[in-house]
Order: sequence, then C-alpha cells, then structure tokens
Amino acid sequence: MDFKKLSAFLEENGLPAFRLKQVRDAVYKNFAVSWDEITVLPAPLRERLAAGLRVNSLDTAETLVSKKGDAVKFAFRLKDGHVIETVLLNLLPEKWSLCVSTQVGCPVRCPFCATGRKGLKRNLSPDEIVDQFLAAASYLKKTRGQKISSVIFMGMGEPFYNYEAVGEAIRAMTDPDLLGLGQRHISVSTSGHVPGIRKFAKDFPQCNLAISLHASEDKLRNELVPLNVTYPLSQLAKALTDYIFMTKRRVFVEYVLMDGVNNSRSQAAKLSSWLRSVAAPKYFTINLIPYNRTGGPFKAPAKERVKVFAGLMEEYGFEVTVRKSLGDDVAGACGQLAGK
Ligand code: SAH
Ligand code: SF4
Repeated sequence: MDFKKLSAFLEENGLPAFRLKQVRDAVYKNFAVSWDEITVLPAPLRERLAAGLRVNSLDTAETLVSKKGDAVKFAFRLKDGHVIETVLLNLLPEKWSLCVSTQVGCPVRCPFCATGRKGLKRNLSPDEIVDQFLAAASYLKKTRGQKISSVIFMGMGEPFYNYEAVGEAIRAMTDPDLLGLGQRHISVSTSGHVPGIRKFAKDFPQCNLAISLHASEDKLRNELVPLNVTYPLSQLAKALTDYIFMTKRRVFVEYVLMDGVNNSRSQAAKLSSWLRSVAAPKYFTINLIPYNRTGGPFKAPAKERVKVFAGLMEEYGFEVTVRKSLGDDVAGACGQLAGK
C-alpha cells in the first residue's frame, strides 16, 4: 500500500489522521488485502479510496497447494502485467517460511535455474516485496489460522542487485510497528554479490546470510554462477571472512548438487579447503540441494551419492543438511520459479 498517497488523500479531503492508523493496522496487523475487509472505515469512504488506491499491489493469478499441503506457491501479477512467484513452506509443525522474490527474472543467468533463463525484466519495489508477505499472510490466516514465522529472500532474482528495495522491505518486516519479525528470522541468499555482502554486514548484522556457492574453483563457478566472473572466489572469500569477523555469525552455504558436475569426492575436498580458507568450519552450515529439474541438461545425483557427499563434508567437520524438496509438484522448489 502506498501510505504516502493515502496520507495525502486524507489531508486533501479534510479527513482525520487517525484513519491512517486504522488502515495501517488493518494491513499490517490483520492482513487485509482489499478495502472491503477494512470494515472500520465507513463504506462510502472505502468506495472512494478503492477508486484511486490499492490495498495490495499484487493480484493473485494462481495459488497452487502441494499434494502434502506443505508448500503453497502463489503467482502474483504486478501492475505492469509481469508475474512473480512466492512460496510458503511448512518446514516445521505450525512454522511457515515465506520465500519471496526480489526481481522479475534475474540478471545472473545461472544455467541450472529457471528464473535466470529469461534474464532480468525489472527490479521489484519495496512495496511489491512486502506485499508478497502481506498477501501470503492473509492467505495463511484465512485458510489455516496460522502465521508466517520467517522470511527467506530466495525466490526469483538476485537480492543484492536490488539492494535498496530489499533493505527497505527488511526494515518494514522487522519494524515492531509494522510486521515485527526478528532480524534472525530473515535470511537473504546471494549468488555472491561482494559489495552487497559487505553492505549487508553493516546494515543487517542480525539477519542470516546464505551464499549460493555450487563450486569452489573459478573455472567451474564461472559457468555455473556467471556472477563469479565479476566477483571471483578470492574476492568472495575475503568478503565472507570480513562478514564473519564483523558479525560473528554463521553463514549458510548452498550447494546445488548436479551429477557429474560438482559432486565428486575431490570436489568435496576442494569445497572443504576453500571454506576453511574463509573461516573455521563451525561458522558454516552447508545446505546441499539436490538439483530440481528445470528442463536443462543437468541431473540430480542418486540418493546414495548425495549421502556420500554429505558424509564427506561432515567428516571434514562441517554441519550439513540436505534440503528436502518441498513443492516440486507445484514447480515451487528452489530454482523452479519462472513466473510463466
Ligand atoms: N539469486 C539468489 C537467490 C535466489 S535462488 C541466489 O542465487 O542465491 C535460491 C536458491 O535456489 C539458490 O541457492 C539457487 O542456487 C538454488 N537453485 C536454483 N536453481 C536450482 C535448481 N534447479 N535446483 C535446486 N536449486 C536451485
Ligand atoms: Fe539468479 Fe539465483 Fe537463479 Fe542464479 S540461482 S539465476 S542468481 S535466481
């Protein structure tokens, strides 16, 4: 919601300022997404407001629920017709995480990711990011009477290529008068945007940082994550060392396992030594993500090979998790968001 516009409208029409607070509470506390739901306002006022101002900037084009009910994918249509995707994930009983998008498409163009395939269309505005939360929260409240407990910036787009808007959205999400989430319940995933990592350490030292690594040699990483050409592994290593030194926080390392590409024993050893060159193993949690199909030439490794890779990393002293693939039946798993 454009609160500046609302406030100007109230002033121009000589309406009391407490209306602003009423609308703010209805949107941020009760997750109203349309004027009809804001019943504290008199109906004629609601009608006038509806003519010029939207409560939520997003239209829900589609809502898909996974068979197990543990993932809900929303396709949201933006004002200019572009479609973005947002996924609710039920990772623990009664605990919902929301995976939000930050851009329409993505400029990084990783060859294994459906979002990257189309390149970048445009950045999302702070409102368009926060509205994903508000629309999903409204859905969760109405359908299950539950709440979102954490947000992961892991949907479409490279968050640090849209740093200002992402920062403003995080501020709204963590503002106790607005959405009131703790910084520790917010995670941002980057493909390795070095200036973004450095700024994030200063601006949001309590939020979680996840790095999409996927390879620990420049030659392979240049292919898998083309941003590596701009910010090679040596620069990324320095930025992460400084990040850990400044924040004393653990970094989440995401590693999409692709059979025959980055899952050999020697690659596990290289991953370990690269991480150790950054900081002690206790500063890392490695999330192994078996590749989700996106129509390219890549293949997920067999389950046993995932286990072998995970076991090796554990032997090297790292905490390892293998990410469950929630929502692949609704094309809502990592890397499958295309906004078709
Ligand atoms: N652009 C950011 C955040 C969005 S991508 C980033 O790359 O970190 C979110 C995660 O999904 C990343 O770790 C990404 O590498 C992973 N991912 C992309 N395509 C995937 C696929 N086909 N299978 C599994 N994970 C994938
Ligand atoms: Fe962009 Fe992340 Fe997909 Fe790479 S994996 S294309 S950085 S969204």
